[in-house]
Amino acid sequence: MTAAIKMHVKKGDTVLVLSGKDKGKEGKIIEALPKKAKVVVEGVNKVKRHTKPSQANPQGGIITKEAAIASSKVMLVCPACKKATRIKKTAVSGSFVRTCKKCGEVIDK
Ligand SMILES: [Zn+2]
Repeated sequence: MTAAIKMHVKKGDTVLVLSGKDKGKEGKIIEALPKKAKVVVEGVNKVKRHTKPSQANPQGGIITKEAAIASSKVMLVCPACKKATRIKKTAVSGSFVRTCKKCGEVIDK
């Protein structure tokens, strides 16, 4: 079972975190991991990593980096009404677009 799971959110979406230490925070999805049903959200679930010196980071040391969280822990923030919302999938010319359940605005353009 490695099939990608269809997630309600994707890269570039702004989401609201529903649980965990970053509950209530909003951020943009910088990476979506559909196979794991996880997302990486900017500024959310930051963890410290000890790194060895590398070309990108010649000093090595401690860096903070966002760790993935379960996609079920985030809710999409509608770009039109700016509210955390559930989405409705609507068929448009052979494919699906996501629509905000609160204001009815099409999210995927
Ligand atoms: Zn909306």
